[in-house]
Amino acid sequence: MTLLSRRSLMGQAAFLAIAAAAPRLAGAQSAGFDAWLADLRAEALAKGISQGTLNKALQGVQPNPRVIELDRTQPEFTQTFWRYMQPRITDERIAAGQVQLAANAKILAQVEETYGVAAEVLMAFWGLETNYGGYMGEFAVFEALATLAWDPRRADFFRAELLNALRIVEDGHIWPEAMVGSWAGAMGHFQFLPSTFLAAAVDFDGDGRKDIWINTTDAFASAANFLVKSGWRGGPPWGYEVAMPANFPWQESGADNRQPVARWQALGVRLPGGGNLLHPQEQGAILVPAGWQGPAFVVLSNFYATLRWNNSHLYAISVGHLAERIAGKGPFKAKPPAEEERLSREEIEAMQSYLNKLGYDSGEPDGKVGPKTRKALRAFQLAQGYPADAYPTRAIIAALATLVG
Ligand code: CA
Repeated sequence: MTLLSRRSLMGQAAFLAIAAAAPRLAGAQSAGFDAWLADLRAEALAKGISQGTLNKALQGVQPNPRVIELDRTQPEFTQTFWRYMQPRITDERIAAGQVQLAANAKILAQVEETYGVAAEVLMAFWGLETNYGGYMGEFAVFEALATLAWDPRRADFFRAELLNALRIVEDGHIWPEAMVGSWAGAMGHFQFLPSTFLAAAVDFDGDGRKDIWINTTDAFASAANFLVKSGWRGGPPWGYEVAMPANFPWQESGADNRQPVARWQALGVRLPGGGNLLHPQEQGAILVPAGWQGPAFVVLSNFYATLRWNNSHLYAISVGHLAERIAGKGPFKAKPPAEEERLSREEIEAMQSYLNKLGYDSGEPDGKVGPKTRKALRAFQLAQGYPADAYPTRAIIAALATLVG
């Protein structure tokens, strides 16, 4: 069984549990939704969406409590490098990517010629997003988007996406019932949000419709087009694994410190095994996603283009690595430790409040390690003589707790 089908079974179990536990919407809430929907319809009409499209797309749409539940779910632990990589970069997924690469060779060659995105790169995005089209989500997109647009938490963002989805139907690319996707409205083979569709979807087979749901030709070209619009370019890869010198100034690590690769070479960074760094003229940063003692990477411009697709360093490394594995390259030289330390949201929140108390501004404690928290942590590490890798550990949190008293 593949990871995604396992996940989908787990999703199903979770869905049944939530469906059983979810209270029916109270009458007043439901009336509130109807008034909200009438207002949304008026706005859509004013923006040139026809009555016919509104009727087709929004008939009978009700808020879905499962969608709200999933939107509220917060992970209990922070994500760690190997725990993220291992289930995503499996031998099975690499082999399936190679099969798809061969099966779609002709169209992928045309897409590569047009957009300059290599075939294995598209296979990697496809594999990670939907397991090569095997799992595109099971929510009706209009119901999911209407629920999230009505719910106040991120109403503005999803109202705009709902209007974008109506525009897609208005333009005749797809019929609303075929628009299935994730609970957050990500659709088709590459899980495009409606705004991504409007910005980047293309009709590559020339049949007059941009179809990212059923037609893989359009889907591949649309994904490639979106990557190019995000800054992707042919040539140097996303990055590569490196070996760090013991005396590296760790405060120089981190995605926001892009320098000529030659500078990292001068600081003693090498390929695993000792070779000189590749692409010395490119701008790149040093990433240590499991801390200074873990695997290390030089990341180049396509890594940053990938962040526009999904703003997660681990996602960008995994998609880049899956692509090179599909192309026949070997695994990372770094090996996972026997046990990876995993911090809970509560521990991160405690760390954030300790940092704040000591004058290192990590923002409102929220249990998530974002740029502000990393910056504060790095400054603390530097001041206290720790390797300033901005990677939270239990030892650092204990040291902080002692200082706060
Ligand atoms: Ca088409």
